[in-house]
Amino acid sequence: MFEKILIANRGEIALRIHRACREMGIKTVAVHSTADADAMHVRLADESVCIGPPASKDSYLNMSAILSAATITGADAIHPGVGFLSENADFAAMVEEHGFVFIGPAPEHIRLMGDKVAAKQAAGGLGIPLVPGSDGAVTTGEEAIEVAKKVGYPILIKATAGGGGRGMKVATNQDELLPALHIAKTEAKAAFGNDEVYMERYLSQPRHIEVQLLADGHGRVIHLGERDCSLQRRHQKLLEEAPSPALNENARAAIGERVTAAMKKLGYRSAGTIEFLYENGEFFFIEMNTRLQVEHPISEAITGIDLVREQIRIAAGIPLSIQQSDIVFSGHAIECRINAEHPDTFMPSPGLISDYHAPGGLGVRVDSGLYSGYRVPSHYDSLIAKLIVHGQTRNECLMRLRRALEEFVVEGVATTIPLHQRLIQASDFINGDYDIHWLERFVDTTGGETK
Ligand code: ADP
Repeated sequence: MFEKILIANRGEIALRIHRACREMGIKTVAVHSTADADAMHVRLADESVCIGPPASKDSYLNMSAILSAATITGADAIHPGVGFLSENADFAAMVEEHGFVFIGPAPEHIRLMGDKVAAKQAAGGLGIPLVPGSDGAVTTGEEAIEVAKKVGYPILIKATAGGGGRGMKVATNQDELLPALHIAKTEAKAAFGNDEVYMERYLSQPRHIEVQLLADGHGRVIHLGERDCSLQRRHQKLLEEAPSPALNENARAAIGERVTAAMKKLGYRSAGTIEFLYENGEFFFIEMNTRLQVEHPISEAITGIDLVREQIRIAAGIPLSIQQSDIVFSGHAIECRINAEHPDTFMPSPGLISDYHAPGGLGVRVDSGLYSGYRVPSHYDSLIAKLIVHGQTRNECLMRLRRALEEFVVEGVATTIPLHQRLIQASDFINGDYDIHWLERFVDTTGGETK
């Protein structure tokens, strides 16, 4: 087992990884920018190294500074966390070339899943269900018309290099198709420097359901069930729950078996998540994330498995000790993302935390680096805390969540807590009756009421 792990990240996720290391008797090295010198992940780590100025590109994305920090501290392995360099295949390869272990998948699998068209083709080849659409990129208007004839309208044009939902256009009939193709290509060129696009059937009211996997690279692959992440605004997840209110045991087992078989065939290693759109009882692959995800704690809550611990053991070459039959799904879990943002306008709200009190009690977990007197920097993602609540039933979970949100005190910056409080009282949410468009409609129709 490793003696020392460098955590190439910041904030709550760096803390999350530190906690797993501590429980395994592994020493930790924190890296930080000058803006994060007082951050909790730096305070709790055994050692810390300043790797650059506030801008991410000069610090948390600075590969050579991170590798130097690993060298001078004598770390054995590097955990990339989420975001930043976690899905950068070149970084993963460099880590290994410098003699450290990368706690994550093989660089070629990160690269494969990072290219949307290649990922879709690979997933199809591995037996994962796809959204019907073009075979690869579409260049000319004639090709687009052919694909639309085959797939039907409405149809979605997506940038191959896309990310964060940008560069997408819907055409509802043939008249709209060529203008939409033109706009999508122009936008893709401007946003990503690459105007290649592909086409897919547009699903009008899908849910976002993703399956969590663990694979040891020795042929053992298990799944930890699904998470429903349909509550999104501008493709940013806000609240996630597990299990999904839309799936039953049979549907869960069926999609779980499909994806575990696929990952076995691929020879995948580490934690990974396959994201689907789910409509009328059918799953459609959208992408695979070759890393830990922000919402992983809800899967931990319903299975009792520490995903970071498993990632570390797998990276150390230890075969998975858990089999699929050992996984017992217990109760229901919900995660609320607490962002330092205005709950109506979603404008970032960095600043000094003048008062802080985290909720507690049975079934309540808070992952956060906040403390009273901490200053939320303006340079990074606005996620400042995750509230994860577990109950024996969905109803118990909802009642507990309501109680925990009432207890949560974060003063000095605006947060999304009031939005969560409103959201969990909405009858559609209480009934589990929502799709990926629901939250935007909810915010548009009830925004402004939050004080
Ligand atoms: P990105 O990499 O830009 O995030 P994704 O393929 O993951 O692109 O899609 C982002 C979001 O766009 C999805 O979460 C979903 O909300 C929407 N979307 C993607 N494909 C479709 C589709 N075929 N039909 C309807 N909505 C889609």
